[in-house]
Amino acid sequence: MKTVTLPDGEKIPALGQGTWMMGERAAKRTGEIAALRAGVELGMTLIDTAEMYGDGAAETLIGEALGAVREQIFLISKAYPQNASRARLVRACEGTLERLGTDRLDLYLLHWRGSVPLGETVQAMEALKAAGKIRHWGVSNFDTGDMKELIAAGGTGCATNQILYNLGRRGPELDLLAWLDDHAMPAMAYSPVEQGRLVTDPTLTEIAKTIGATPAQVALAWVLHRAGMIAIPKAGTLAHVQENRAAGDLVLSSDDLSTLDAAFARPQVRRPLEML
Ligand code: NAP
Repeated sequence: MKTVTLPDGEKIPALGQGTWMMGERAAKRTGEIAALRAGVELGMTLIDTAEMYGDGAAETLIGEALGAVREQIFLISKAYPQNASRARLVRACEGTLERLGTDRLDLYLLHWRGSVPLGETVQAMEALKAAGKIRHWGVSNFDTGDMKELIAAGGTGCATNQILYNLGRRGPELDLLAWLDDHAMPAMAYSPVEQGRLVTDPTLTEIAKTIGATPAQVALAWVLHRAGMIAIPKAGTLAHVQENRAAGDLVLSSDDLSTLDAAFARPQVRRPLEML
């Protein structure tokens, strides 16, 4: 499994598993647990969740699915912005740890920026780290200006920024990804197959056909071809998990990359970071 390096030198898998919408429907539960377990067995040991997902239901599902292999997992969760104050972040984190059935998170993210001053959130994250409740902290949906403000507010300990990034969402290439590179912070691409919408794209379908892959695999391989990029596709079925894992080993040719570059041109003008 390809790895990505955090600012403190720790290496983590470049390809993980998302969990948004998991644990919300009883009929899908067994399949989702099997998919997550299979993904971990295949090396996708980086797991992303959030207190928001199903109001804690995704965290509870992960606890059930992966409790027995907790030590193999790089476990990430995210706090609501309204919980990002010093007092509330401790409680939010405790709730998350309880649902996940663990005593620590490997990475805790602020889900998006809210009204709590960034300096207070930085202190709250650092306090959780000092208490051993989290090993790393980071942010999500932060644009370049937000990252600069975070650093100015004392947030030099930030490990990563989880952002919307895929073939159809290339805005971060204009300046955010370069800023993160300059600060040795990997980016974490969420919705790397655009919530499934990219799998019917004609260009991806054509390339996939010629190289014996699937459109989803081409979309994932494109995200992962960038150094310092982590992708966290969500897959609720065994077949999708297996497909996604294989995408981690798929290397696109320079011809295919050029074709994709032409079909999914990066924006010419800077626009605010998109989010889902
Ligand atoms: P995504 O991973 O781009 O797409 C998930 C959808 O694609 C599901 O419907 C899944 O179907 C389908 N899919 C997965 N693999 C496939 C394959 N090989 N072939 C065909 N279809 C496939 O979208 P996402 O769930 O929005 O994003 C991924 C993760 O990022 C989330 O789960 C969450 O952990 C995180 N996220 C974070 C934020 C944030 O604000 N920080 C926002 C959005 C998402 P099945 O489920 O049927 O397999």
